[in-house]
Amino acid sequence: GPAATSTTATTLPKTKLPKGMIMGKDGKPCRTCNSLADFTSQSKVLKSTPAITSASATAGVPADCPADVEALGRSSWTLLHSISATYPVAPTAQEQSDVKSFLGLFGKLYPCWVCAEDFQEYMEREKIKASSRDEFGRWLCGAHNEVNRKLGKKEFDCNLWEERWRTGWKD
Ligand code: FAD
Repeated sequence: GPAATSTTATTLPKTKLPKGMIMGKDGKPCRTCNSLADFTSQSKVLKSTPAITSASATAGVPADCPADVEALGRSSWTLLHSISATYPVAPTAQEQSDVKSFLGLFGKLYPCWVCAEDFQEYMEREKIKASSRDEFGRWLCGAHNEVNRKLGKKEFDCNLWEERWRTGWKD
């Protein structure tokens, strides 16, 4: 009914079920907000499935499953950093406006709602800087590091952003 459809992410508590499950706006477990292992109680079955391919980014996850929070994140960061790598060195006002519009909508549409809310809050605090390729690459690196910190991952040295995402590592 209307009551159920009007439920929004902001009205949902960020609390987790005993298994660590984050729920979606529809009240069901959110696949793109959880790791596959947390999402399915059949993770043990999946890990012993022979259909697992080496192309899978995550060991033990079949390559043709819907994205979990980690696969979605890796693909999304690849897209975002690649956009910064191809962003103009000297962008026009329109190009700067476009990248800001894109990230604004990206933040609204990102399929993990907890991730999306935090990312939108980050963009409120740390306004997008995009007056040059390097400025935007570093801003994005900072945004990614914010998530790295939140997840207890190692921070990335933003002086290396261009080697990682544009030129490739120096020999
Ligand atoms: P990733 O973090 O996906 O990074 C991929 C590669 O990027 C790394 O291997 C490294 O080479 C490079 N890299 C790492 N840090 C940087 C950096 N600062 N700058 C440039 N390159 C870098 N997951 C959650 O569980 N909770 C969240 O709230 C959450 N929020 C997210 C918000 C956004 C906008 C996005 C895009 C993803 C979010 N994720 C979240 C997913 C999370 O960031 C990771 O993508 C996921 O945990 C997989 O991590 P990973 O270790 O494979 O590497």
